This record gives sequence, C-alpha cells and structure tokens, in this order.
Amino acid sequence: MVVYSHSRIVTYENCPYQYKLRYVDKVVPLLGGTIESYMGGIVHEALEWLYDTVVNHDLATKEELLSYYDQRWVSRWKEDTRVIKSEFDFDHYKKSGRDYVEKYYERYVPFNQAVTIGLEKRLYIDLPDGKKMSGIIDRLDKKSKTHFEVHDYKTSSRLIEQSQADIDRQLSLYAMAVHQHYPEVETIDLIWHFVKFDAEVKSIRNKNQLQELALETCTKIDMIETAVADSDLPTSKSMLCDWCEYRKQCPEFGKTVDSEEIIEVIDKLVSITQSDIPEDDKVVILKTIEDKIKLFAQQSRQKTLVGTTHKATVEDVFERIPPDQGNLKWYNLQTELKNMNLEIGDLSNVFHTPELSEKQKNSLKGYFDIERSTKVVLEKL
Ligand code: SF4
Repeated sequence: MVVYSHSRIVTYENCPYQYKLRYVDKVVPLLGGTIESYMGGIVHEALEWLYDTVVNHDLATKEELLSYYDQRWVSRWKEDTRVIKSEFDFDHYKKSGRDYVEKYYERYVPFNQAVTIGLEKRLYIDLPDGKKMSGIIDRLDKKSKTHFEVHDYKTSSRLIEQSQADIDRQLSLYAMAVHQHYPEVETIDLIWHFVKFDAEVKSIRNKNQLQELALETCTKIDMIETAVADSDLPTSKSMLCDWCEYRKQCPEFGKTVDSEEIIEVIDKLVSITQSDIPEDDKVVILKTIEDKIKLFAQQSRQKTLVGTTHKATVEDVFERIPPDQGNLKWYNLQTELKNMNLEIGDLSNVFHTPELSEKQKNSLKGYFDIERSTKVVLEKL
C-alpha cells in the first residue's frame, strides 16, 4: 500500500508531472538540490542536535551549537547544490542559516518551556477509508499529560498569516497523528517557528476540523490515484520550475536528456562562444560543435537540448536562393525586374527591397529555389 505524505500531495498539487517523475517513475533528477533546501536541512539538524542535548540534560552552549552548524554545513555539502537567486551566493545562505540558529538559541534558552518527547518523530496516520499517511514532526513537546505541542521549523522567506496557519494541512495532519498515537491528549498546539523572522505562529484544531480534513485528504488521494491510473499527469509551469530538480528532464524545458555527452557539448559551445580566441579559429570550432549538437538533436528527436547553464535549440532556417547568373531562370527574372522598373544588383537581397510591394514579391518568388538549413540558437537557462 502506498503511504502518502503531505509533501507527496503538495508535489502533485504543484506539478503533476513532477509527481510522475518523482513518485511514479522514480526518476533520478539530473539537477542537484537547491541551496535553500540545503540550508533548511542544516538548520533542522542543528536544532534537532540542540534539543537532543536538552533531553540529555547536557545543554549545548550557543558557541557549541554554532560550531555544530558550521561543521554540518561542510560535512554534508554536495557539489551540485544550486543557487537559484543570482544576487546571492553560498556564503549568504550559510550565514543566514547560522543567524537563524543563533537567534533561535537566544530566544528560547534555557529551553525549559516544555518537555521534549520526540525529535524528527515519524508518525503514521490512519485515514477513514483505510489509506495511510506518514509525517515527520520536527519536535513534539509535552506541556502536561493532556496538552502537547507540535513544533515545525520554517526557514522560508515568507511568514504565513494567522488565517493561513488556521487552515494549514501539514500541521493538521500531524495533530491527527498525535491524537491517534496519544489518545489521552486533549489539546495540541501547532507551532511554526519562522526562524528568519524570529517569529512564532500558533494555531489549534478541533475534532470536527480534523475529521473534515481526513475526508478531504481521502478525496485528494483518490484524485491522485485516478490521475496516475489514467496517466493524466501533465506539466504545470510556474515560478517553482526554477527550483525543480527535474527541470532538465521536463518537456517544458527541453525534453528528456539522457546523455551526459549532450550536456558536455553544450557547455563547450558556451565556453567557446564566450572565449576570446581568434575569430577565424572560433568559427571553425563552433561549426564542429554545432554540427555535433545538430546530430544529437536529430538522434534524440529533440529540438532543444539542455546544458548546465544554457539550452541550445536547433532551428530551421529557410532561405531563397537566386538563380545562377546566365541560366534561363536568371534571364527571365531580369526581364520581370525590368518590367517592374527595378534594378537590383544583389539578388539575394531582393525580398528586403523596400520599394517592392507584396504582390511583386509574390510574383518573383517562383524564380528562387528554397533552401532549408538549420542553425543552433544558444539561450541562457
Ligand atoms: S520544471 Fe516545472 S513543469 Fe517541469 S516538472 Fe518541474 S515543476 Fe513541473
């Protein structure tokens, strides 16, 4: 049986095609994770470690916490982590996450607001129609035997409003899970820590709200399962595409790329285009690379191929070729031009002559052959 999660449902809601790649086809993404998600992960790890020291009655100092953060930042680093917002660099995110952790420590030290009973705690939820969901609660605290708190750390740059918190699905599901696992609990506070803003947002749910949510979630899962069965999982372009790890494998951004060689060749085209090697040499090298790209495009039946920073599109170019001087078509064309009182030296430019009407252009077209070629157009991703 498929065990659903809040993030799995959100993936479907944001983009059914991303859902297909991640959960149905289980495709390995070609792009690395984003720096926002990396930083969020390290902040979560640091706060988990901090509360672990609290639980073990060996509270870490702020310096120890920051040193743990620094050490995790280095040891977990992945070379393919991506920065999407070009105005920021890796250090900006590292420092931001460090500041969040520091502010959090200063706000809550000595961390005796409640008793922590679970860190990164996975709980399963039984839905009314027999389906199952699971969720990982960042921190579960106990205020009393019947009063618990669900804590969730958010590193996002957007602070939610109370009205949004009051209908948030993720923490509602966690509340449902806690009620199922701890039947003695009557009150559950849902608490979001927006660490960037040093802010807490709180909400609660009553039993009716949770029952309603359970039914809505069943309906939502039914909808997803029908879409999967019908293979009805289309792309859904949005701002989130910039952050999507499947962008290179998405038909909206250049179809499936199945060869590292393609990426290498496009990256080479970019570097030669931007290099300052002598123009004559550049033309020759570029032609060789472009020919290779055209071949890849043909073989893979894709017009657009994607590299690390740019995409290359193979576009058709249609050109009218004038008849060779001296052959019959050429003489006839000259006669026609004379009848039009036109004297045109360079025939290849005839269709760009401003004094030529559309009607005249149409009557001249028959003297020209059409030649189809292709060109490679490079564009930044
Ligand atoms: S790039 Fe955009 S449209 Fe394509 S799978 Fe990702 S989110 Fe969906």
